[in-house]
Amino acid sequence: MSGKAIVASQFDRAADLIKLDAYMRRILITPFREVQVEVPVRMDDGRIEVYTGYRIQHNGARGPCKGGIRYHPDADHDEVLGLATIMTWKTALMDIPFGGSKGGVTVDPRNLSTLELERLTRRFTQRISIVLGPYRDVPAPDVNTNAQVMAWILDEYSSRHGYTPAAVTGKPISLGGSLGREEATGRGVMYVMMEYARDFGIPLKGSPVVIQGFGNVGSHLARLLVAEAGAKVVAVSDVDGGIYNDQGLDIPGLLQHAAARKPVSAWPSGKAITNEELWTIPCGWLVPAALGGVITKEANARTLDCKVVVEAANEPTTPTADLILADRGIPVIPDFLANAGGVTVSYYEWAQNLQQYRWTHEQVNRELHATITKAYAGVRDLAKDKGTTFRTAAYAIALQRVAEAERLRGN
Ligand code: NAD
Repeated sequence: MSGKAIVASQFDRAADLIKLDAYMRRILITPFREVQVEVPVRMDDGRIEVYTGYRIQHNGARGPCKGGIRYHPDADHDEVLGLATIMTWKTALMDIPFGGSKGGVTVDPRNLSTLELERLTRRFTQRISIVLGPYRDVPAPDVNTNAQVMAWILDEYSSRHGYTPAAVTGKPISLGGSLGREEATGRGVMYVMMEYARDFGIPLKGSPVVIQGFGNVGSHLARLLVAEAGAKVVAVSDVDGGIYNDQGLDIPGLLQHAAARKPVSAWPSGKAITNEELWTIPCGWLVPAALGGVITKEANARTLDCKVVVEAANEPTTPTADLILADRGIPVIPDFLANAGGVTVSYYEWAQNLQQYRWTHEQVNRELHATITKAYAGVRDLAKDKGTTFRTAAYAIALQRVAEAERLRGN
C-alpha cells in the first residue's frame, strides 16, 4: 500500500469524527503544489546519470511548508505525497507555525561517491529552488540525508538569494544549525514514551526495547533511552540485519561501532539476527525507526510480542495492521506525534536564524519537552473522551487546526 493510500484511509476516520465538510475534506487531502524534476548528474567517470526528484507542498495555510528530503530507491510520487501530508498534520498537532511538504530523489545514495552526492544535491536544489525559501518552503534531513546535505542546499540556495540560513534546517551548528537538532527526533520519541509509561503504567525503566533502524532517529533514541530513561535496549537493526542481547546492548559501544560504518549485526556482544527475526523478539516497547510499511498484516501484525508500538518512523504501520494491533489490544503511538521532535526543533532553528540569536542546548530541550508533552496530553485526553485510538485523536486535532486556518483565510 502506498504512503498516499495509507494517509488517505486514516484521514477519513478522523474527518468523520470532527464532522468535516465535504469541500474542506477535498482541500485538506489534496496537495497545494507538486513539483517533479529531472536531475542530471555528472558521475566521477564522466557519464551523466539522470535522477527523478520531487518536492510536494501539501498545505501552507498555517505557515511556510516544512518537510525533509530523502534519498532512496523507493522514493516516488506517492511516497513523497504521503509524507508531505503527514508533515501538515505533524506541524498542526505540535501547533508550530508551519505547513507540510516533503522532497525525495529516487536514488540509492550508497552507489554514489561523496562528490556525486554533492553534485546531485546541488542540481536538485537548483531545480526546486523556485518553490523554496524561508517563508515559502523549508527543507530538512530525512532518510539518507544529513547536516552535510543541508549545508550544500544552503550554499546553493544562498548563491541565488544571498545568505539565507533560515532556508533550510538540520544544518551543521557552524552554519546556523540549532544545538539539539540532530538528536531532537529521538529525544522527542523518548519524551512521548516517558509520558505514556507514566499514564498507562507500562514501565520504561529496565523494560526491554526493540528498535528497527540505527540511523539518526534510532541511534539517538537508543542512546537517550539507556542514558536518561534507564531502559534496556535489547535489539536494534540496520539495513543489513540486527543484533540481540536479552541483557541489554552496550549502546555507547555499538554507536562507536556503527560510526565506523560497520553493520550492527557484526557487533560482537550479542546474537546476530535477520531483519525478519527482529519482529519476533518479546519486548515492552517496539519502535520502528527505519522505513514505512514495515508492520503489515502479512508479515508480523498478528505475531508481534510487545506491549506498545511507538512509530518513530513515518508510516511504519499499514491501516490493516493498525486494526489488527487494535484488536489485539496493542496500542500504537502514531508517527506524527511520536517523531515530531525533529520538526519542532527545526522550528526553533528557523526562529533562531530569523532572530539571529542562538539558544542553549538546555533551552532547546526544555522547549521541546514543553511542546511535545502538551501535544501528547491533548491527544491522550481526546482519545479518552471519544473512546478512539491515539492516531484518530491526533488526526482530529490536526485536521481541526488546519481546517480553521483555511476557513479564516477565506476557504
Ligand atoms: P537514516 O537514514 O538516518 O536511518 C535509517 C536507518 O534505517 C538506517 O540505520 C538504515 O540502515 C535502516 N534501515 C533501512 N532499511 C532498513 C530495513 N529494511 N530494515 C532495517 N533497517 C533498515 O534515517 P532517519 O533520519 O533516522 O529516519 C528514519 C525514519 O524516521 C524515517 O521514516 C523518517 O521519515 C523518520 N523521521 C526522521 C526524522 C529526522 O529528523 N531524521 C524526523 C521525523 C521522522
